[in-house]
Amino acid sequence: MELEQQILTENDCYKIGRTIKPQGVMVHSTGVAQPDPEVFIGRWNKPDVAKCVHAFVGRERVIQTLPWTMRGWHAGTGTTGRSANNTHISFECCEPAGHTYEGGTMIGYDAEANRPYFEEIYQNAVQLTAMLCREFGLNPLEPGVVICHAEGYELGVASNHGDVLQWWPRHGVTMDQFRQDVARAMTDGDEEDDMTQERFDELMDNYLARRTRLEAGDWSAPARAWAEAQGIVAGDGDGGFRYRSFATREETVQMLYQLKGK
Ligand SMILES: [Zn+2]
Repeated sequence: MELEQQILTENDCYKIGRTIKPQGVMVHSTGVAQPDPEVFIGRWNKPDVAKCVHAFVGRERVIQTLPWTMRGWHAGTGTTGRSANNTHISFECCEPAGHTYEGGTMIGYDAEANRPYFEEIYQNAVQLTAMLCREFGLNPLEPGVVICHAEGYELGVASNHGDVLQWWPRHGVTMDQFRQDVARAMTDGDEEDDMTQERFDELMDNYLARRTRLEAGDWSAPARAWAEAQGIVAGDGDGGFRYRSFATREETVQMLYQLKGK
């Protein structure tokens, strides 16, 4: 999961700046065919918007838009604002392009064509929720902790919206499955770790390169002076002897060979 920050500092919710002690995570979807989170950030980062969430989940990345412990306006605002604003961290999943709505129902939604999009959004939502549950010590399997907006309405803690149950079931996904997947992702700490052999090699090369630049300690000065005078160690041509680098077996036998020749 790629996580970045673009805090909605111009939104009235941010300016009021109330804080919460997070007790859960509420999953939303935007209810509009717009896959680009930046579009929402552009629209919401201004006064008089009357709604605000903690993050937008896009296909390629998750963008955090409020500090996690700031009170959001996602379960309704003003007279419709319900108690989940005081307890739940919220994020909006961006819906793909191509569909419209009629009375809360998706029209023209091609579930088969949108499957790859949905799977990536879903994985990002799982990873984000797992990360938040870990950070705030929440159990996603406890009742009322990880819920969607529609479930929040059923529980009387959110305004009357149907998300994400107008969308996710089109892909055969239930909120119960989501909670299970979040719980699994929490115990499976490697899920977020996208280490590859290529990346490891790159890190190892960086590490070895940094070692070549380390200074030798004073305690070895007599030995170094002796070895250099005897020609047992050779410099790297730039005046450095790479004393804090590891010696390969090849270099070791070469040093012994030089010593034997004396
Ligand atoms: Zn919602």
